[in-house]
Amino acid sequence: MKIALITGIAGQDGAYLAKFLLKKNYKVVGLDRRSSRDDKWRLEYLDIRNQVNIEYADLVEINSIYRIFKKYKINEVYNLGAQSDVASSFTTPITTSDINALGTIRILEIIKDLDKNIKFYQASSSEMYGRVLQKKQNEKTPFNPISPYAISKLFSYYITKNYRESYNMFACNGILFNHESPIRGEEFVTRKITTTLAKIAVGKSECLYLGNIYSKRDWGYAGDYVEAIWKMLQQKKPLDYVISTGKTYSVKEFVTLAGSFLGMKISWKGKGHREVGIDKKSNRVIIRIDKKFYRPADISYLIGDSKKAKKDLKWKPKTNLNNLVKMMCEADLKKYR
Ligand code: NAP
Repeated sequence: MKIALITGIAGQDGAYLAKFLLKKNYKVVGLDRRSSRDDKWRLEYLDIRNQVNIEYADLVEINSIYRIFKKYKINEVYNLGAQSDVASSFTTPITTSDINALGTIRILEIIKDLDKNIKFYQASSSEMYGRVLQKKQNEKTPFNPISPYAISKLFSYYITKNYRESYNMFACNGILFNHESPIRGEEFVTRKITTTLAKIAVGKSECLYLGNIYSKRDWGYAGDYVEAIWKMLQQKKPLDYVISTGKTYSVKEFVTLAGSFLGMKISWKGKGHREVGIDKKSNRVIIRIDKKFYRPADISYLIGDSKKAKKDLKWKPKTNLNNLVKMMCEADLKKYR
């Protein structure tokens, strides 16, 4: 039985990946930082809370990580733990870098010293492309990050590549474009949209406040993406891969689509921060712009090109935006009704 260590197991991807690996008959060890809330709701949602071995440690403390490697004979490490919110990285840039950048090198150092046969996956991000320098972004596109989050991830991208090349380690980067699900954190825009609109639909909220609704992203389904993550570590050679859908939509389009699955017909009026979304059925303003949600620097659009993953990993996304948004809206409606 292979043993996989997942850092950030209590997060969205950690939970889906754990479920996927359990089905593949792995023993799953999850690194989770202690919190007063014991927040394992995602593992409970996927009904795997009692099937994974949770170990308390912190990516900022190397000894705590080391103890897990001493306790289990780990074969594969999936480093998903991170301060993963771009907006928050502007308010906590130092903590973000400690966790996202130095956390990675702490694990790589342990693997290098203990057992170089352990395979390593690094959760890299499309945010590293930042103010994009190429229309569609693939593995060869130059990076141009514009947030502390993206810069911390870029450090981890390069250090993973550096350990692979310098020490002959099996270390890969998955450059994943945005991926969402019913268990996405509510601080992320997609889930904020589906939860708030679901609450409005059942009379538990009045209005959804958003920042830049013209930002465009390539949104996929997290459940599809964890398969690609696993496949990267099953290849003969360790390489880096872009994982995306190849389609891009604005936040505004996402809102309109989500509204349609929640029984609303949203029309838009006005410009700039005065633009509003009106539910034509109730004739009420249900979406407003709030400048406080604008970021100090914002990426205008991202769209990925996953041809390499399609060819080498035989991977392509199964869920389109329509089905993803429908899935999220149905889950949130069920939750708030
Ligand atoms: P997520 O839901 O925010 O999960 C991240 C997990 O990391 C959380 O459980 C968090 O614990 C944990 N964590 C944070 N700081 C830690 C620390 N110091 N020590 C140990 N664990 C810590 O993120 P996700 O959406 O699953 O994403 C997984 C990874 O992929 C992240 O690295 C993210 O940056 C990257 N990524 C995500 C996307 C996306 O669209 N989802 C796209 C590209 C890359 P708490 O619950 O205690 O905060």
